[in-house]
Amino acid sequence: MRILLVEDEERIASFVARGLKEAHYVVDVAHDGEKGLFMAEVNEYDLVILDIMLPGKDGISVCRELRAKKIDTPILMLSAKDTTDDKVRGLNFGADDYLAKPFAFKELLARVQALLRRKAPEKGGVLHVGDLELNQLTHKVIRAGKEIELTSKEFALLEYMMLNAGKVITRTMISEHVWHEDFDSFTNVIDVYMNYLRNKVCKGFKKPLIQTVRGSGYIIQD
Ligand code: CA
Repeated sequence: MRILLVEDEERIASFVARGLKEAHYVVDVAHDGEKGLFMAEVNEYDLVILDIMLPGKDGISVCRELRAKKIDTPILMLSAKDTTDDKVRGLNFGADDYLAKPFAFKELLARVQALLRRKAPEKGGVLHVGDLELNQLTHKVIRAGKEIELTSKEFALLEYMMLNAGKVITRTMISEHVWHEDFDSFTNVIDVYMNYLRNKVCKGFKKPLIQTVRGSGYIIQD
């Protein structure tokens, strides 16, 4: 799951981003409204966390413009003040939920999970490929009854592959969906992580599940 966080206050942005990464989400951060709007337009996010008070373009305008462009990514608004006015305006312009500052990270995480669950009820949050099972909500990965411990990055990579099971996934697709904006695609970092992942998910099991497609990328299939 990939989340865009639009927040100009450095302290809040870094604590929220860190918490979300620890919870295995992939997080991009924009520090102003213009950048946030641009990133939400060009990338596919599962959720946008949008502060209302932003330099340049405010959060309400960003939300309104995204909805006008038919981008229906769930939006969680953040506001400095808990006023009914802000809340009503945000929800009127197409936000899905609203959280007033200051908030506990646990509260934010609960809202994020609720919105993601609402967005993907048909998936039930559990992906399967053969005897491999990945729970998108609890982040548990089980193969043949055995729990597999993954790092955040490995989890995000496996989740993205399982969402696209049976299709060839190129390194470019992985860099766009799993890595951050500042990712340098000329490094072999994807191959390195793919090796870590295969060691954990495939080694010692009957079927490899993840295969290299020469000259193209990778595929996961039963
Ligand atoms: Ca702000």
